[in-house]
Amino acid sequence: MKGGEKLRWTLNWLNGSTLLGLLAARIGGCEIRPAANGLIFAHFYSPRLPHAAAFTVGCVVLFRAGPEEVAGRPKLVAHEARHSTQYALCLGLPFLLAYFLAAGISWLLSGDPASRNPFERAAGLHDGGYAERPVRRIFRSRKDSGS
Ligand SMILES: [Zn+2]
Repeated sequence: MKGGEKLRWTLNWLNGSTLLGLLAARIGGCEIRPAANGLIFAHFYSPRLPHAAAFTVGCVVLFRAGPEEVAGRPKLVAHEARHSTQYALCLGLPFLLAYFLAAGISWLLSGDPASRNPFERAAGLHDGGYAERPVRRIFRSRKDSGS
């Protein structure tokens, strides 16, 4: 592990988010494997929610897919690693509150919980499999709308 990854690992253990991630993996019936750069991969997450191919809690990245499929998606792994860093920067569980607030505002602005969510944008929208949607017309100024 590099220095920043060690720091992230330590902070996310201390703030309790990695422990919560392992609990989610256990509830989700996942196969847990240590991964590179201080992450823990939890494969075959099966509950219906959240509707995502992958999500991260602390240093635990939960995937619906198995290890072979995940190995072929390095951009998604990089995206989830950035979310793990966001947990460390937000002192752990407060990240969830901030993330869901940002997702709600993004949904109001664009009809999509990721497009205008600063956490998703910082993690890389396209790396996470998201397409950028424009701000809804009602929130655009006359100058932006071109009329
Ligand atoms: Zn994401």
